[in-house]
Amino acid sequence: MTRSFSNQTLRFAPSSNGYLHLGHAYSALLNFEMARASGGRMLLRIEDIDIDRCRPEFEQAIYEDLEWLGLSWELPVRRQSEHFSDYANALERLRSRGLVYPCFCSRGDIMATVAGRPDSPRDPDGSPLYPGTCKHLPPAERARRLAGGRSAAQRIDMDAAMASLGFQLGWRERPVFGSSAEGREIIAEPALWGDAIVARKDIQTSYHIAVVVDDALQGVTDVVRGEDLFMATHLHRLLQALLDLPEPRYRHHRLLRDASGHKLSKSLRAKSLRALRQEGLSPEAARKLLGGELIAAS
Ligand code: GLU
Repeated sequence: MTRSFSNQTLRFAPSSNGYLHLGHAYSALLNFEMARASGGRMLLRIEDIDIDRCRPEFEQAIYEDLEWLGLSWELPVRRQSEHFSDYANALERLRSRGLVYPCFCSRGDIMATVAGRPDSPRDPDGSPLYPGTCKHLPPAERARRLAGGRSAAQRIDMDAAMASLGFQLGWRERPVFGSSAEGREIIAEPALWGDAIVARKDIQTSYHIAVVVDDALQGVTDVVRGEDLFMATHLHRLLQALLDLPEPRYRHHRLLRDASGHKLSKSLRAKSLRALRQEGLSPEAARKLLGGELIAAS
C-alpha cells in the first residue's frame, strides 16, 4: 500500500492492564481522525512495562476492540516490554550525569517519615513528596546496601536536574480542535513532582522514561492524550530536555465521564467496550456516540 505521509505522526498508547472502555475509544478515535485529516501516520503502542498487571489477553483485546471500531495503524506495533534496554540506556545517561540516586524506601517507609508532618507537600497526584531520605545517605552506606543486593528504585535529583538545565522549560498546550498555531504557553514546573521515581524497583524503568524515549524513537510529532496526563507533561518536558529528545506538540483532551460525573477508568470499572459490544452496541453506533463527543467538545 502506498500512502504519502505528511510529517505528522500520532499514536495511541494504551496499557494492556485491562479492557478498553469508551474513554480509550474516544482517545484512539481522536488520534486516528487527526492522523487521517493530516495525511499523517497513526501508530499504536502497547505500554506493558508493568509486567505484573499487563496480560497478553488484554493486549489481544486491544487489537480486537480497535479493529471492531474500524481503526487501523501501522505495523509492527511497538510493545514496551520488548525494549527495556532502550529505557535502561536513557536511565544510564541520567545516572552518568549524577541526576538520579538509588532509593531503598518502601511506600510504608515514606508514609512513616511524613506521618508526623500533616502539612507535608504533595505531588499533583496527591501523594506526599519524597522526603529525601535516601538522597542524604552517606555514600558508604549506599554502596553497602547496593553491594548487599538491596533492591532500589531510582529517583531523579530534582534540584540537580533543574540546576543542570539553566533555562526555562515549557510547552505550548494546543487546542484539541483548532489550529496548531493556537494554544497557551505553559511554564513547566517538574519540581511539583519532587524527586520522582524514574525507575521502579521491580522493573528498573517507569512510565515517564518509557513514554518520552518511545515518543522520540518513534518520531511522534503530536501527543494527543487525556487531560489526566497533563501534569505528567511537566516531568516529561524535563526528561526530554535532559535526554536531548525532541519536543512533540501536546494536546490533552477532556475525559469522558459517566452519568454521575466520574471519569471513566479501569479502576472504577467503567464498562468495557467488549461488554458494550456483547450488549449489542454496533461499531457504527459507538463511532456515532464518540463522534458526537468529538463534536460536543469542539
Ligand atoms: N499508557 C498510558 C495510559 O494508558 C497512556 C500514555 C500516554 O498516552 O502518554 O494511560
